[in-house]
Amino acid sequence: MRRRFFLWLMTALLAVIAACGAGFFAERIAIDRLLEQAGPRRDIYIEGLRSELGRYETLPSIMTYSTTLRLMLSAPDNASLQDRANRYLEQVASASGAAAIYAIDPDGTTRAASNWQGPASFVGLNFSFRPYFREAVSKGYGRFYGIGTTSKEPGYYFARAIKDGDRLLGVVVVKVSLAEIEHTWAGASDHILVMDGNGVTILSSVPDWTFRTLEPLSEELARRLAATRQYDRVQVRALDVRTLRDLGGDSHILAIGPGTVPPLLETGREVPGTGWRLMLLSDMSGVVMVKRIGWAAGAGMVLLLVLALLLARQRRRTRRLEREKRQDLLRAAEALERQVAERTAALVTANDDLRRTQEELVQAAKLAAIGQLATGVAHELNQPLAALRTLSDNAAAFLARGKPERVTENLTMIAGLTERMASITSQLRGFARRSDNRPQPVNVAAATGNALSLLAEKARRTDAAITVDIADDINVLCDPIRLEQVLVNLIGNALDAVADRGTRTVKVDAARFGDRVRIRVADSGTGIADDHMPHLFEPFFTTKAPGLGLGLGLVISAGIIQDHGGSLSAANGPLGGAVFTIELAAHD
Ligand code: ADP
Repeated sequence: MRRRFFLWLMTALLAVIAACGAGFFAERIAIDRLLEQAGPRRDIYIEGLRSELGRYETLPSIMTYSTTLRLMLSAPDNASLQDRANRYLEQVASASGAAAIYAIDPDGTTRAASNWQGPASFVGLNFSFRPYFREAVSKGYGRFYGIGTTSKEPGYYFARAIKDGDRLLGVVVVKVSLAEIEHTWAGASDHILVMDGNGVTILSSVPDWTFRTLEPLSEELARRLAATRQYDRVQVRALDVRTLRDLGGDSHILAIGPGTVPPLLETGREVPGTGWRLMLLSDMSGVVMVKRIGWAAGAGMVLLLVLALLLARQRRRTRRLEREKRQDLLRAAEALERQVAERTAALVTANDDLRRTQEELVQAAKLAAIGQLATGVAHELNQPLAALRTLSDNAAAFLARGKPERVTENLTMIAGLTERMASITSQLRGFARRSDNRPQPVNVAAATGNALSLLAEKARRTDAAITVDIADDINVLCDPIRLEQVLVNLIGNALDAVADRGTRTVKVDAARFGDRVRIRVADSGTGIADDHMPHLFEPFFTTKAPGLGLGLGLVISAGIIQDHGGSLSAANGPLGGAVFTIELAAHD
């Protein structure tokens, strides 16, 4: 927070410094330009003034040679000479454009004048107090700028003494009006001031600025002006001028008038041969504007620079954030890949474990079945064994009694019994052998026969009626041992289901449907309860008493049939009990 405030403060400070600097330089350049243009213009005005005066400069000296004037001045009381002189002066004045031309006698009294006819005629008036007259008397010539005491018009006076040898005949005066030139200045864009030797403005493009001093009027000057009546009755006052800056050379920056008027650039020079000074005052509002533009440009540059820096920083930061985000994403993706690989490996192992467990389960179920069968087999073998013993005892007794025909009879019966026992053990061996799951054509009737003979003991105990309805030519593609195992399971379950029932019927049939064979094991038991149905093929689901069922038979059976591309399903069937249906591919 504080750092940011400090940064903005620094920026503001920099902007102010830059604005001042740029403003200063812009103003400097603008002033130089203005000065460059003002100098030549000022010189043109000076030249104009000089040539205007120059037109009349030689006129008085030429007129000293005039016989008319000389004669008239020599005989001042001769009316006809005076009349001629008046007319002569009138003609010269109108031809040259001079405001007035007049001849004064050595006492200062005007004897003839170009305006002799007008109401403000100079004839008869005494001008001995006027400086141009005095100078002409003493030096031979006089120059003077002032306001006419009679005409009240300002003008420039050129005076020359007319002499006859050393004797002064009189003075001829040419008065030139500068109103015309002043008039042309009024239209210029610059202000122009002309100051005489007294420091009084005698000509100006602004009417209100004439007959003013730039500095307060001194007492001595006021007294002298009163004596010469140079500006007649005009009250000379000080102009409200303030010098704002000195630019060196002849140039200043001024403010004229009250308040905050736009400053003026002053450049002045002497008007040669007059003792005057012409001042050109140029309007500086253009410079002021350039200076303000300079301020704005300086401050604007700093602000732009700061903004550009901020923008660059922001972009750098965004780019860095994006880079970091990309790297994070990459890292996350890598982690995900690693995790997927780990999980896949775990799944593969789990799958392997599952297959192993399944195989072990098959094996365990087989062993359990063997256990159950063993009981049956033991029971099955016990009876022939007991019979064998009796028969062999009998045979020995008949041999002792010498009845060989009865011995032979007994031995034949023994042989039959041993054959039956051999068949029982051989089937047991075949069932226990681990199968390699090699599908081959199996005759369904034969497989059912084998299953039933394995269950013979159980069937006898149950006292159930087992019917088999299978055509001889029905063959399926399956591992024969496995198919027998499935049939032993299903028929065994059916026998269990009917054991406690009044009617004890188990029916096995098979039929062919296209390229499939359907084998059904149906019984007259109680059937399968609705809430047991979904769990039949789950491992260890059993409703039998402990020791009688493991709940593996159906799971293993279904697995075997599925392994051979078939299906095993359960439902409640036509005999009132359950019906289990095996479907397998047929073999021709
Ligand atoms: P176990 O015979 O060891 O119980 P099984 O997987 O062979 O295991 O049978 C699971 C269960 O299915 C039996 O406990 C029984 O409830 C039911 N079951 C199987 N066959 C039949 C049938 N024919 N009739 C009625 N219920 C049956």
